[in-house]
Amino acid sequence: MKSAWVDADAQALVSHYEASGIAADLALRVYSTRLLGRDPKLVLHGGGNTSVKTRLRDLNGETVDVLCVKGSGWDMGHIEPAGLPAVRLDHLRKARSRRSLSDEDMVRLQRANLIDPMAPNPSVETLLHAFLPHAFVDHTHATAVLGLVDQENSRALCEEVYGRRMGFVRYIMPGFALAKEAADVFAADPSVEGLILDKHGLFTFGRDARESYERMIEMVTLAEARLAKDRKTVFIRATLPNRIGALAEIAPALRGAVALPDPAVQGDWKRLILDFRTNDTILNFVNGAEVARYARAGVITPDHTIRTKNWPMIAPAPDADKPDGFRVATRTAATTFVDRYVKYFARNNKRAGGTKTMLDPAPRVVLVPGVGLFGLGRSKKEARVAADLAEAAVEGITEAEAIGRYAPIGEADMFDVEYWSLEQAKLGSAKAPPLAGQVVIITGAAGAIGYATAKAFAAAGAELALLDIDGASLVEKAKALGALSVRCDVTDEASVRTAFDRVVESYGGVDILVSNAGAAFQGRIGDVDDAILRKSFELNFFSHQRVAQNAVRVMLAQGTGGCLLFNASKQAINPGPDFGPYGLPKAATLFLARQYALDYGAAGIRSNAVNADRIRSGLLTDDFIAERAKARGLSAADYMAGNLLQREVTADDVAQAFLHQALALKTTADVTTVDGGNIAAALR
Ligand SMILES: [Zn+2]
Repeated sequence: MKSAWVDADAQALVSHYEASGIAADLALRVYSTRLLGRDPKLVLHGGGNTSVKTRLRDLNGETVDVLCVKGSGWDMGHIEPAGLPAVRLDHLRKARSRRSLSDEDMVRLQRANLIDPMAPNPSVETLLHAFLPHAFVDHTHATAVLGLVDQENSRALCEEVYGRRMGFVRYIMPGFALAKEAADVFAADPSVEGLILDKHGLFTFGRDARESYERMIEMVTLAEARLAKDRKTVFIRATLPNRIGALAEIAPALRGAVALPDPAVQGDWKRLILDFRTNDTILNFVNGAEVARYARAGVITPDHTIRTKNWPMIAPAPDADKPDGFRVATRTAATTFVDRYVKYFARNNKRAGGTKTMLDPAPRVVLVPGVGLFGLGRSKKEARVAADLAEAAVEGITEAEAIGRYAPIGEADMFDVEYWSLEQAKLGSAKAPPLAGQVVIITGAAGAIGYATAKAFAAAGAELALLDIDGASLVEKAKALGALSVRCDVTDEASVRTAFDRVVESYGGVDILVSNAGAAFQGRIGDVDDAILRKSFELNFFSHQRVAQNAVRVMLAQGTGGCLLFNASKQAINPGPDFGPYGLPKAATLFLARQYALDYGAAGIRSNAVNADRIRSGLLTDDFIAERAKARGLSAADYMAGNLLQREVTADDVAQAFLHQALALKTTADVTTVDGGNIAAALR
């Protein structure tokens, strides 16, 4: 590992912050914190922190000694001075003489001594930073160092690699006790350049930012060099099926197997989003004959446990020739995982005095031999974090096994971190949005109604896949919502199948389909060209059927129900003159919605339609509105509000109707009218 320090860059940042009154030492602290945070082999998703001891003015204008230490919620790779809240140093140091300090009291002590009471919570490792005398302290969970410390003989191995340059601190959970122990180890030999934290990571320190940072790089490089020596071959490969099932085939079965029914609401599920990873290192790991031993031994560093749980679920290797076998075996593997987790909780909660609340028992990482690994989460973001940490675990465990035998912290220690009182206190405070964990496909998503619907579903917490034939404007719109965009021609069977495969590969499945793509065709029914009528049926009926068939295929593979939503039209109920070519297929689509409701209700798949009229969109352009208004001797505004309520109906109103239908778990075969009131088109 090479130092990424560039003097010119460091100085540029010092000058940049000088203008806003930030001292050079804090600016350099920001600089080297970013260097650490941008290397995933050093720091991943909050797995590290840094500090600088300096002096600054408090709110009374008095100069005081402070510790500026990484605050929670800040990413080291993009940290700013505000992400390093200042805490009165002498007050932190006084705590060292105490015999014990609960986590809650530690947080209170830290917050009470913030210079700025609005600042974020200082890191839980703040006291460890404070108890060390050095101006700069850096802490990471470098993967290479984890390869050394997650061994039975970690102390001897670290002595071999570092001699007396690094102190060795036995495993203690982060908090007051660890801070005291680390300070004692340092006091026993103040010549050390850093501390190795067994089963956890390392600290380095120095007089200035560069010294502390470059010591970190050097210590990690020494670990890398040791891992490159005396390696044995890992891993011996298990026997796998000749033909491995495709990702798009296996993901829905897996996603369905790990979804948990909500005991409070019949028909509701706690679903998870999947994030897939594969490469040679991952395949070597998941294909190992002994994968159950080393993969289930535990986390490479304690803070992973909150995002990945302590061990992954191991799915069977999918045989492409026996898809049903995979489905059944995956369900068994998921049930086994949950049983094991519930027992682990019960066993350890008893030890903790029965005071803890169990988290959901679903896995957050799934290994699939022959295929790769999945990170799982209630959102795509959570799933990505779990997958990133799982990849780091694959690497750390592979390294550990190559030079010895992987031996992380034990079950009780993992439980104490996973069920840490501060984390437990947060439970229930954040309510998940109503569509969290659900994947929604919207066709015609670049259009007015499609995009308004996308925004409404995004606000409800769903993960979105936006499909449209207009690729260019779609990409931009999808980006704005953090959605997946897939160019798709809904009249083309292959294009639809490819689009669904892409969505399934990206998220693991599909829960809601908004079949919205359509276009208006006109002609007097008695003499309309047959080709026009057929073209309209192709887009306004068959494409709805095509996407619905694909959605149902995926939903049945998941086995967790689902929801089909169709954009019908007022024309389906109440034909307009010369609009036959549009109204006829729309009428068929309205019945299509009912047919799906009838045929798939028993599988928990609901099917509803929205019947909207007179919405400004690609079908109803401003020019077209002006023309129609003029023909009726009305202003454009009066024409648009020509309904019982005399209000213009917008794409957002239609979007809300779709959202309502998606959320109404006991509603199927419903047609919701969104037209401001039109008695001639009212359903009966
Ligand atoms: Zn740490």
